[in-house]
Amino acid sequence: MFYIGCHLSVSDGYAAMGKTALSIGANTFQYFTRNPRGRGFKRPDPADVAGLVSLMQEHGFAPPLAHAPYTFNPASGVDRIRDYTREAMAEDISVLEEIPGALYNFHPGAHVGIGVEAGIANIAAILNEVITPGQGTTLLIETMAGKGTELGKCFEEVRAIIDSVDASVRPHLGVCLDTCHISDGGYDIARDTDAVLEQFDHIIGIQLLRAVHLNDSKNPVGAAKDRHEKIGEGFLGLAGITKIINHPLLRDLPFYLETPNELDGYAREIALLRGQRTEE
Ligand code: FE
Ligand code: FE
Ligand code: ZN
Repeated sequence: MFYIGCHLSVSDGYAAMGKTALSIGANTFQYFTRNPRGRGFKRPDPADVAGLVSLMQEHGFAPPLAHAPYTFNPASGVDRIRDYTREAMAEDISVLEEIPGALYNFHPGAHVGIGVEAGIANIAAILNEVITPGQGTTLLIETMAGKGTELGKCFEEVRAIIDSVDASVRPHLGVCLDTCHISDGGYDIARDTDAVLEQFDHIIGIQLLRAVHLNDSKNPVGAAKDRHEKIGEGFLGLAGITKIINHPLLRDLPFYLETPNELDGYAREIALLRGQRTEE
């Protein structure tokens, strides 16, 4: 099954996102768990979440990918920022427990001067606190482009985060590979697809890869910029993206578009990608 969706807004509710996804030919979607800028949080109506769950089951959706807001920074050396991140992540996970198989994507954050090792230790400490042994939600570390002091810019840093958490936490962790980010981070995923995935497997372990953010990039490999481009209009190109969605190690994963588009643009990209998909 080809699972493909895009980023949607949660503002109209959970069941509404499922309906919107259906209307554009998607069978999964991503959304921000809360306003990416604001700090207020309103717990969603359980009936609304249940409505989404039954729609997803009826239409054979892959689990939605909940994306933590950009205001989180688990790597931060500032207590107040880490406290907010910890509380809000725990709150998000408690909502996600209502969605079977939920995936919760987060940015490892930026160390902002305290150094890579201290930043990673802070991330691990928060994960140890917010993840509970019996939970159903899997937290995904997103691979980053390496802007500023951003962590997770190379496979080794992602591995180091996973190695730093308690053993009981590790089964609830996975990775989300962002194709724009890793290309900007120096991995030529569009051209050296096999070699990059081999590296991923060697350093992180391919079994930990649970989702793909499918984006083209406005910048060449290694640019460390993080500017997403529409599918086929950037440096990865349609040939590169086509290789990615059909690759034997990736094709069964859910793909989430985060390209600069409105709904009609996403619908066109989903149709385009469905046309590029090869038979098993
Ligand atoms: Fe992200
Ligand atoms: Fe992303
Ligand atoms: Zn990005």
